[in-house]
Amino acid sequence: MTEIPSEVAWTTAPGVLEGARTLELSPEQCDLDYWLGAVAGGSLRGLVHGHAPDAAIPDFMRRPGPLRDAVVEEFAFQAIAEEKATRAIAALVPLTPDIACMEFYATQLLDEARHARTYRGHLLELGIPEAELPTLMEKVAGQDARKVLFPLETFGLGVLAKGDFYGGVVVLTVLVEGVIAPTTELSERKWQVLDPAAAQIQRGAGIDEIRHLTVGSTIVRRYVAEQPQQKDRLVELIVRGREMWQRLPLTKMLERHEALFQEGMLDRADVIGDYEIWPGRRLLDTTPDERIDAALRWSKETQDVRLTYMGLTEAI
Ligand code: FE
Ligand code: FE
Repeated sequence: MTEIPSEVAWTTAPGVLEGARTLELSPEQCDLDYWLGAVAGGSLRGLVHGHAPDAAIPDFMRRPGPLRDAVVEEFAFQAIAEEKATRAIAALVPLTPDIACMEFYATQLLDEARHARTYRGHLLELGIPEAELPTLMEKVAGQDARKVLFPLETFGLGVLAKGDFYGGVVVLTVLVEGVIAPTTELSERKWQVLDPAAAQIQRGAGIDEIRHLTVGSTIVRRYVAEQPQQKDRLVELIVRGREMWQRLPLTKMLERHEALFQEGMLDRADVIGDYEIWPGRRLLDTTPDERIDAALRWSKETQDVRLTYMGLTEAI
């Protein structure tokens, strides 16, 4: 068996925020053999629905109430987002300029399809019958998907339709993953004690996300270094994309999710106890706004670090 590199091993991989800030990975390093050995044959081995088979899903998570609604709404939305990402990457793969990028995005396509599957899988584990899953996902997250994801999807596919591979990588890395990764981190921390299986699913997605963010950044960094005349065009794309993000009702959706979580969390204060969401801060003492602010701040920081690394500081 291949030895699992520390950045993907379950026990040693950093959190997504730390990894996205500190690690450097290239498409040549993360080729198909790496993915088949270290990821599929390594860190993902033996997982069921994206978590260890013995990860707990407490009974109270399966009972109707705000806590269950919170995880259902959150994971349904994420399942739709990951499905859209998978389909968009399918349009990116044919544009790859070389074999290293082709292999890397072929693996990222599978990563995103896997993420979508684990989120749906958790909904099934929570007791939603498989036949009802599409209707339920539409009911709890369809509207959010249309308002938040559809404009982003249209923006990204518009870039890819022009055959612009590097523009597509910038949109995916900065505007999509740079925003999603911090939400995944927040979710992992929130569910740690209440729904350990959900937290592990997020941890697994986060480990993949580090690779997506860092390899995407390396690809853009090289391009900008080799072709500085392309820089303005990419900067303009990011500025336009960020303006679009500002107009999307993402915060509104997060407020609804966090309000549900807040209500459910207070019902389970006995289970949460002194658990700290981050060092020095008890989860039970946090408010919905505080958690949302943290995720949005992490998003901005992650995007800025990645843009600096790419050599696109003008977009900050
Ligand atoms: Fe993903
Ligand atoms: Fe990703």
